[in-house]
Amino acid sequence: MSTVYNFSAGPGVLPAPVIKQIQKELTSFHGSGMSILEISHRSTLFENVIDNAKQDLKDLMQVPDNYQILFFQGGGTGQFAAAPMNLASKHHRLALLDSGHWASKAHDEAIKLGYQVDVLDSTKSEHYHELPHLSLTFNQKNDDYLHVTINNTIEGTTYHQINNPTHLPLVGDMSSNFLAERYSVKDFGMIFAGAQKNLGPAGVTIVIVRDDLLKKVPKIPSILDYSLFAKKNSLYNTPPVFSIYAAGLVLKWLKKQGGVDVMESHNRKQSKMMYDFLDQSKLFRNDVKPSDRSLTNTIFTTGDQKLDLQVAKEATQHGLMSIKGHRSVGGLRASFYNAMPTAGVQSLIDFLHDFEKKH
Ligand SMILES: *Cc1c(COP(=O)(O)O)cnc(C)c1O
Repeated sequence: MSTVYNFSAGPGVLPAPVIKQIQKELTSFHGSGMSILEISHRSTLFENVIDNAKQDLKDLMQVPDNYQILFFQGGGTGQFAAAPMNLASKHHRLALLDSGHWASKAHDEAIKLGYQVDVLDSTKSEHYHELPHLSLTFNQKNDDYLHVTINNTIEGTTYHQINNPTHLPLVGDMSSNFLAERYSVKDFGMIFAGAQKNLGPAGVTIVIVRDDLLKKVPKIPSILDYSLFAKKNSLYNTPPVFSIYAAGLVLKWLKKQGGVDVMESHNRKQSKMMYDFLDQSKLFRNDVKPSDRSLTNTIFTTGDQKLDLQVAKEATQHGLMSIKGHRSVGGLRASFYNAMPTAGVQSLIDFLHDFEKKH
């Protein structure tokens, strides 16, 4: 079989050496004679896995000592409920920037659970081709925190700089650019990310939360309870053992590549190749404001729905997988997560170039 490149937005591409290592040690984990799929989460074997993953993540992101690293199930969607339940217990009210699909999902979940949501700015009328921003005059004292989708997976936009002029703790949804570019953890009260976009297989969600925000909140489900998970080292109940193990291997791989800064320049280089191609193309285009363009998710289109579908279909025949845009917006999308090699991006550009010549 010829080389296949996976541009899926999630679950996304994983580093090939990690997949090999999983295969190699699947039948006997660390010489134990047991598979990682069947060992106890209370065993020393697994305690080492979770402690190493935490330490590696702490090193890679330079997580300060006054933050907890927690592992949950339930994905990013679970955190749309968990964040207000844990962090909005005082005023039952949060602020949010409406930057697209996932911000709107977070909004709706909070409303459903009875919280008030102040939408401070929205770029809906610009089709989310640029990011909403906080006005400097904003002064909302009754919100418990500010929710921002740091990378908009579907609209292809990213806050590359964190600018929070409010006194509200910032809650950052980094599901699709976690460890893809450098952020300073101390700019955030809480960061969350479902693993399956840029970190590992589906099943585990990372939460990084500042100690002073951890409160004992009554009547919150135990599986969403930050302070309980912090107290129990994320081992209150059975955690997603395999997903944490696999994410841990990716963290080791990232360290070996040189860490987040090296990854960021790799991602910048690759996304620039793609945007440069799109900007000179006469068939394809990307409508996102250049300074807001995502490094991990590039959206593009011919402007013709039927032709876009044909592009995606022909790409598949060339081993270039999953470039169809999200069903809510149509068009095309290529995700360049950390594990995407430059050869994959080049193959995609070459294919699009040839397609353009034929049309
Ligand atoms: C995918 C995604 C989510 C939802 O994640 P699930 O793990 O599928 O619940 C939330 N936010 C962003 C930015 C995403 O890309």
